[in-house]
Amino acid sequence: TDEKTGRRRVLLKLSGEAFGAGSLGVNPEVISTIAKEIALAAKEVEVAVVVGGGNFFRGAELSQSGMDRGRADYMGMLGTVMNALALQDFLEQAGAATRVQSAIAMTQVAEPYIPRRAERHLEKGRIVIFGAGAGLPYFSTDTVAAQRALEIGATEVLVAKNGVDGVYSADPKKDPTAEKLHHVTYQDALLKGLKVVDATAFSLCMDNGMPMHVFGMEGEGNVRAAIQGERIGTVVSN
Ligand code: UDP
Repeated sequence: TDEKTGRRRVLLKLSGEAFGAGSLGVNPEVISTIAKEIALAAKEVEVAVVVGGGNFFRGAELSQSGMDRGRADYMGMLGTVMNALALQDFLEQAGAATRVQSAIAMTQVAEPYIPRRAERHLEKGRIVIFGAGAGLPYFSTDTVAAQRALEIGATEVLVAKNGVDGVYSADPKKDPTAEKLHHVTYQDALLKGLKVVDATAFSLCMDNGMPMHVFGMEGEGNVRAAIQGERIGTVVSN
């Protein structure tokens, strides 16, 4: 929560999958739909977004086909910036004020990542989109979502998933008895080996008591509801 404005403040993680809708590049229709929901919810809630880049490149995959891992990861990070710009465009079309902050300097297209400035934008009701991940190879945007949430004092990380609507007691694709959990502790998720986000993001949230709300982004109004605090998926906390 924002101490100055009293508004709820959240960090929304959107994976690259959400932007590409199953293919390479961005799908304007899909982004436009998500943007409208975010813009609506952002009238009452302070929203920061971390965007993934899996619809363009994943460093680990490129390195498996022979590229240097560090360079491949930078390509991955640059992909997230394209998603950030696409989201910014559709958010502005939906009437929202936005800023993109990039962890890799590219002053023509985005502000540099300056946490305190990001907080000022949020206080003024602007949506802040964080691009280029952490600017560091070997990291994932899930981890960046956890880190940014902590640094800007968000109440929770909202992890928007494609193709699944929360955390299950087992892998729902393999185990027919798998049930959707409304709440799970970090410790239980760890013990049961439930895949929520990657391990670095997971331990960052667990160690610092940052709750996550994992929800499915398909379905009208889901993104808006999650931003506004409705528990439509699974809450993971200590
Ligand atoms: N990446 C990175 N450092 C970061 C964030 C991302 O190296 O801090 C690279 C990494 O190669 C990753 C790619 O950017 O595979 C795209 O990000 P991610 O896979 O997290 O996107 P998502 O799966 O959410 O679409």
